[in-house]
Amino acid sequence: MHAKHAFLIYMKKISCKDINPETSCTYEASGDTAKQVVGKMMAHLKSDHMNDLKGMNDGEIRSMIESKIHG
Ligand SMILES: [Zn+2]
Repeated sequence: MHAKHAFLIYMKKISCKDINPETSCTYEASGDTAKQVVGKMMAHLKSDHMNDLKGMNDGEIRSMIESKIHG
């Protein structure tokens, strides 16, 4: 499903707790577009949460993040 918005300024957010409520990590990625947020969160997961990714590939990580982004 596409979630395209007509407005260019639209703050998107995702935190590590959105992905895993049990984590003690307080990292939060935000940006104007889902693409920016996904990029930031991907980089963070790969540097700090490699063990939690359990061999997921980039496409799987990306769709997991996209499914949990909120505005
Ligand atoms: Zn984290």
